[in-house]
Amino acid sequence: EVIGNEDTLTMGNPHAIVVPYPVQGHVIPHMELSHQLVKCGFQITFVNTEFNHRRIAATLETDNKEGRINMVSIQDGLSADEERNDIGKLTEAVVRFLPSEVKDVIEKINGSQNDDKVTCIISDMGLVLEVGERMGIHKVALWTTGAGLVAQMLNIPNLIDTGIINTDGTLIKHEKIQLSPAMPVMNTAQLFWLCIGDSETQKIAFDAIVQNNEAIKVANWHVCNSTFELEPAAFALIPDVLPIGPLLANSGMGQSLGHFWPEDSTCLDWLNQQPDRSVVYVAFGSLTIFDQVQFQELAYGLELSKQQFLWVVRPDMTKGSSEPYPEGFKARVATQGQMVGWAPQQKVLSHPSIACFLSHCGWNSTMESAHNGVPFLCWPYFADQFQNQRQICDVWKVGLELKKNENGIIARDEIKEKVNALLGNEGIRSKISKLKETVAKSLSHGGSSANNFTKFVNGIQK
Ligand code: UDP
Repeated sequence: EVIGNEDTLTMGNPHAIVVPYPVQGHVIPHMELSHQLVKCGFQITFVNTEFNHRRIAATLETDNKEGRINMVSIQDGLSADEERNDIGKLTEAVVRFLPSEVKDVIEKINGSQNDDKVTCIISDMGLVLEVGERMGIHKVALWTTGAGLVAQMLNIPNLIDTGIINTDGTLIKHEKIQLSPAMPVMNTAQLFWLCIGDSETQKIAFDAIVQNNEAIKVANWHVCNSTFELEPAAFALIPDVLPIGPLLANSGMGQSLGHFWPEDSTCLDWLNQQPDRSVVYVAFGSLTIFDQVQFQELAYGLELSKQQFLWVVRPDMTKGSSEPYPEGFKARVATQGQMVGWAPQQKVLSHPSIACFLSHCGWNSTMESAHNGVPFLCWPYFADQFQNQRQICDVWKVGLELKKNENGIIARDEIKEKVNALLGNEGIRSKISKLKETVAKSLSHGGSSANNFTKFVNGIQK
């Protein structure tokens, strides 16, 4: 199934097929890269799973007008009612199913009279890139996380050799590790795969990472959604990986393509009415789920902070509760805050009224905030978010960490105090402004990410 118009293009353009791992935080950077390649004359076939494709199509008010990005869909191997937020289940199905589906898409394109032949395959999944190996096209591994995480994943054999983890990824030693002196100190209990679901899911994640580490070697280009100057020590450990990020919305289109929820842009009008640097933006990405107690504690904390706030509450964020807010909360904060189901986050973060970002520290959110010079209040939940928090707080020193109390809750007073401490912290304010400049410089003409991007595009254009 194809959405989008069949804009006419002259034949003979480079044609990339782009296949993200099917969760929101991977789809978005693949889409950003696709937009950038379109500007360089590429035709794009963007492949989503049928499940995600339907969700994306439903968010679009009009047909996709970006004619050079054809959105197509394939099966993910799960039945219609299965839970896609179960990363273990999703990963197993995807590994088994996606490669042959992608191969069929490419063969269909190449067999058609009206399409440019596929010249390049871009994915964060090694097994998908292997399909390209047999076709003699360019194979691009897009690492959608920070370089620190890439280095950690590629360092797995060393963690096994030094007796920190078993060969199945389970932890032997609780200790602090540091991959190199200028990188954050990490707690081994917070290794990426140990922070994904229950022990069974952790095992599936670990096996998938090990398998991917091997399969992804097939790529002749490795690019990463980060900037060299943001993580020089990590990039020194992975010299084959080229930083071309942050990959941010630059399409100039009215509506974003590739989002699973419809964006509520009314919050931009509300932001326009707020003073500069007055609003706390609160968002936890696409997967985080809150229990009722923690959700209400956050609501109270925001209210008590007395700061204006914009809070993204996804429809599926508080499972099983139709009215998750404390009694009377909505009425009390009517002028103090706004809640939206899904925000145009990049536009929000670039708005002058935003003062700080209370974030789960997903990598896309981290890059978007750094790019806009917005300091962080860190509330990580899973996966690489703990490592990203360490990078934000200890290396860049542009954020504060929210701490759990003895009951494992981030309490309302902690939220209130840290919000106000962050807003009054001039040291953090000046560091995040410098970080913003660093990112802007790397993306501007002659900067490191811009140069790497040119080198990369020239390489895959032929
Ligand atoms: N996002 C958005 N609107 C929202 C919340 C998130 O557009 O209300 C986008 C955000 O800009 C980012 C992505 O969703 O690009 C989330 O990716 P991230 O890596 O931060 O977190 P994940 O969802 O993978 O946990």
